[in-house]
Amino acid sequence: MKPLGNNNGGYFGEPIDAPTVMVQIDAVAKAKNWHSESFQLEPGFSLQAYTRRSQDPKNAVYISSGIHGDEPAGPLAILSLLEQDQWPAGMDLFLCPFLNPSGFPLNTRENSNKLDQNRDYRHLKSLEVRTHTEWLKKQPLFDLALCLHEDWEAKGFYLYELNPDNRKSLASSMLRAVESICPIDFSEQIDDWEAASGLIRPKVAPDERELWAEAVFLIVNKTRQSYTLETPSDFSLEVRMKAHNAAVIAALRELS
Ligand SMILES: [Zn+2]
Repeated sequence: MKPLGNNNGGYFGEPIDAPTVMVQIDAVAKAKNWHSESFQLEPGFSLQAYTRRSQDPKNAVYISSGIHGDEPAGPLAILSLLEQDQWPAGMDLFLCPFLNPSGFPLNTRENSNKLDQNRDYRHLKSLEVRTHTEWLKKQPLFDLALCLHEDWEAKGFYLYELNPDNRKSLASSMLRAVESICPIDFSEQIDDWEAASGLIRPKVAPDERELWAEAVFLIVNKTRQSYTLETPSDFSLEVRMKAHNAAVIAALRELS
């Protein structure tokens, strides 16, 4: 499998019609009895959150995507996961599929105010991130958080792990599930981080960081184990969507 060679200085692959995908996600979530919440953002845009409680929950898992408007595979993976409905039993699930709804029509990483929401979780300048963190604070603590992203420069799939208590890592399960679908990025350095076989374990000291990604907010406030999944957006959208889907299912099965 080879990269398509579309991306030169940014993402120039297949876009999605985000409002249509949002409607599809909402319809399938409601059909499968998820609890749905909608919060008004700028006119014409809303933040959607979905929760599903299990009878006898052993784990609470949070999954987000769509924080960068030029990364369409994550929201599509959430749609396909909802349609498949193969969630392991005994899990409470919390989904935010489109954290940056105004960025998708522009196909930009940033929102329509040119702000990178994934650097806004310390100072909460954007309405989107303020709304999202208000919602997060009302949810229980999560045993696991998965943030679905894409990287237009990546040679293959990789992930970041934040696991300060050294809990059992879910990284190798995810990488194994993905490798038959999408190449893994075996670079020793990815995005200025030291990497090994597609895994980055950043040393994160939140207090020393001026700008917080969503994953940093989550590790400070909501969970002790998080993964940021990165698909290589120079491969086809279907491959990337399937890679995210397989990684999420592998992590949930390993956790349960
Ligand atoms: Zn991203």
